[in-house]
Amino acid sequence: MELRICHLYPDLLNLYGDRGNLMALVHRAQWRGIDVRVEESRLGASPVPGAHDLYFMGGGEDRQQHLAAADLRERKREALLDAAGRGAVVLAVCGGYQLLGHYYRSAEGEELIGLGLLDVTTEHPGPQTRRLIGNIIVRSPWLGGRTLVGFENHGGRTRLGPSARPLGTVVTGFGNNGADRNEGAVSRNVYGTYLHGPLLPKNPALTDYLLTLALRSRHGPVALASLDDSLELAAHSAALVRATSRA
Ligand code: GLN
Repeated sequence: MELRICHLYPDLLNLYGDRGNLMALVHRAQWRGIDVRVEESRLGASPVPGAHDLYFMGGGEDRQQHLAAADLRERKREALLDAAGRGAVVLAVCGGYQLLGHYYRSAEGEELIGLGLLDVTTEHPGPQTRRLIGNIIVRSPWLGGRTLVGFENHGGRTRLGPSARPLGTVVTGFGNNGADRNEGAVSRNVYGTYLHGPLLPKNPALTDYLLTLALRSRHGPVALASLDDSLELAAHSAALVRATSRA
């Protein structure tokens, strides 16, 4: 079996070790004997529609998002719309998440039009407003109520529209906007979240869930062999303790 991953803007959108998410996906697939191919797609490049099973995009500050937004619409829209339509996985963190929504209004009031793959809008109330920063715990119905741990740092406040569902409910931390306890957004197999950390190494259940969806979109039903996750789960538990003690 083969997994084809497209890493969008690996140098431009890469805050707080977002690249570690790629490593978690690659290693957890390879440990099961799955061949993995990773293609990086930078500014100016257009991924070939249909060529990948999983797309990943990390976070970035407003300046990086400004650079990515137009390129995303002009060069990558076709591949990502096609991906969403055929059930391939798209995972985006923080600044990348904001650009999968309808728009992101930056701290300076600039409106960056997103891809609209997720029914969300994001507005940064301005440079004087408190940023939403810290360790976060989320409970996710997509993982049978299991917890996700991570680190968030954003000024943008995201609101879900009627056709997006949250990735989870905030247990500790801020999530989408610090008010409604929603964290992230899901629509078909498109996932957006504010969780850096990086997200996937400390949340192996989510990594395997996304790997399964991505493989299934091309190979049909698949069941991943279980792995020894003692290290990952110890990191998860330590993050739970840190986030809880902050609260
Ligand atoms: N610039 C965005 C915000 O502050 C995203 C930040 C990030 O990706 N960490 O809301």
